[in-house]
Amino acid sequence: MYCSELGEQWHAARVEPSLAHLDAASAGRSSRSTVDSITRHLQREAERGAYVAADDQAEALDASRAAIASLIGHSPEELSYRDSARAALRALLNGWALPMSPIVWVGKNEFGPNLAEFERRNFAVRALPDADVYGRIDVDALENMLQFEQPDFIHVCHIGSASGVVQPVEQIVEVAHNAGVPVVVDMAQSVGHVPTVTGADAVYGTARKWLTGPRGVGFVAVRPDALAHIDVFFSESFIAGQLGLGQAVAEVVEIGPDRVYAELAAIGRITRERLNGIGSWEVVEPVDEASALVTLAPPPGWGPSDLHAAKAKLLQSGILVTAAEPWRAPLAGDRSFLRVSPHLDVRREQLDDLANAIRTMGY
Ligand SMILES: *Cc1c(COP(=O)(O)O)cnc(C)c1O
Repeated sequence: MYCSELGEQWHAARVEPSLAHLDAASAGRSSRSTVDSITRHLQREAERGAYVAADDQAEALDASRAAIASLIGHSPEELSYRDSARAALRALLNGWALPMSPIVWVGKNEFGPNLAEFERRNFAVRALPDADVYGRIDVDALENMLQFEQPDFIHVCHIGSASGVVQPVEQIVEVAHNAGVPVVVDMAQSVGHVPTVTGADAVYGTARKWLTGPRGVGFVAVRPDALAHIDVFFSESFIAGQLGLGQAVAEVVEIGPDRVYAELAAIGRITRERLNGIGSWEVVEPVDEASALVTLAPPPGWGPSDLHAAKAKLLQSGILVTAAEPWRAPLAGDRSFLRVSPHLDVRREQLDDLANAIRTMGY
């Protein structure tokens, strides 16, 4: 039995999975039409040459751009493609005339590789205070801090890689803009998953996770009225992948993005309710956090290698999840988690199987 009314439709649009795929936060499964739109274009490129083929598809490429732009509240011409979210962040930082050693404020859920990009550019990074034990940014505290000091920008992971907590980006943007501070949002885990029209100055994300587009396509968008001057230059990119992403987004738009977000939030709650307290594993997020990214803290005494072994064992029994190590969110602490991130086609039996597998893992 599917956990969502959309489950059957989402399942039917895809090839039959050969395992219980509960790992959309790593890479969602693309629909058949998404795969087709990529392979058809590769075929056209082989027939006519890549430039002619791209010109022939100008209309479809414009439609892809418009669909993605609508999800993130930008206009189509503000969008540039890169081959990953990380490459998109680099394009953003390279195109931004920041002062020497700029100051950036981040949440505790900041993605480790993003911190590495800041560090190698000599940025001074400061972690914002939390409003709760879940690492949610304290907007009141932020507003207070901004009265005394303004960083060069605030960078927020809308949803991090090791926690399903959704940061209050709209409120952060509001208080930051009142203080004249630009906000950049990493939407790698939020686009296609939760509402992503935030008013931020610049945003970036990736196709392959919740949008179930292809691996190898990332995007970045900067508002024309941004509180920062950022020039993201044109880059050669994967045109077939852009068409694939466009098809994936079109399918979300056809269902209705708000319906997709609401169903994913419901799936997150069902998953947390099903897994919490099984064999002394604890769900890390509030049960009703409005996301389908679920993290489980292992029983006391478990280290990263135990989690890796658990993940491998689950895979052997046909269940795909992630062992999320501390590098994904180094400011949040040194614990490792099991990350379970089902998409719309998750079935109750799959969650039961996961719960049983965890329970019998010998602890
Ligand atoms: C996956 C992820 C990224 C990086 O995306 P790539 O496309 O692999 O570069 C960035 N931020 C967060 C929060 C992520 O989960």
